[in-house]
Amino acid sequence: MSPGSAGTIFSLRREMVEIGARLYERGLIVASEGNLSARLPDGRVLVTPAGMCKGRMKPEDLVVVERSGDHAQGTRKASSEVKMHLAAIIARDDVHACVHAHPPYATAFAVAGIPLLDCVLPEVVATLGSIPLTDYATPSTPEVGESLMKYIEQYDAFLLKNHGVLTLAGDLESAFQKMETVERLAQIVHLARSLGKVDTLSCQDVETLFNLTDRLHSRFGGSDTPICGTCRVGDPGHTHE
Ligand SMILES: [Zn+2]
Repeated sequence: MSPGSAGTIFSLRREMVEIGARLYERGLIVASEGNLSARLPDGRVLVTPAGMCKGRMKPEDLVVVERSGDHAQGTRKASSEVKMHLAAIIARDDVHACVHAHPPYATAFAVAGIPLLDCVLPEVVATLGSIPLTDYATPSTPEVGESLMKYIEQYDAFLLKNHGVLTLAGDLESAFQKMETVERLAQIVHLARSLGKVDTLSCQDVETLFNLTDRLHSRFGGSDTPICGTCRVGDPGHTHE
């Protein structure tokens, strides 16, 4: 272990406990729902425990697992969704943290089978992009991780069919903020739908945004996946005016 790693691990534990509390206080999880993970400096993964309210964890409740999923450290059992977290972390070198929650509006879209692909809010398009809907997979099985794979290169947030939401980022705070953003987007799209009309951004608006945003360029510019000519979203189901 390199000098400073112990401090890093301790601060990561404290941050994970704090973000669990924020997820719970914001109503993005209830009871013992949800789970979080973060890559450790030695390549192992810190993960939340199974069967515990994530709003009331202590740093010592967290569990360390090997990349294989084997238990490495901690008195509790790792989250049953650890395979999903490991699949995302192993698939993408830039992913250092994952947050999984069941926020009510976004989960309602996942239950209704409606992805959040339309370009409606410029700041969401620029910072997060669209949110695809994965095929249904039984929670806790390896199929959940497999259901992400066709989207994993191009997206940082996923609606898990009939289940909830997963967000990926370079750190826990960013993964949490993406979760909040997905839920707020779902809430706004739902409210606009209830008003009877959802205006998507025009192709030109999205093109302008695309040219302004390095993230979109670096993420979608060189992709081989068939993508939208304007926002570079890979799913043909999304629309523009
Ligand atoms: Zn879940």
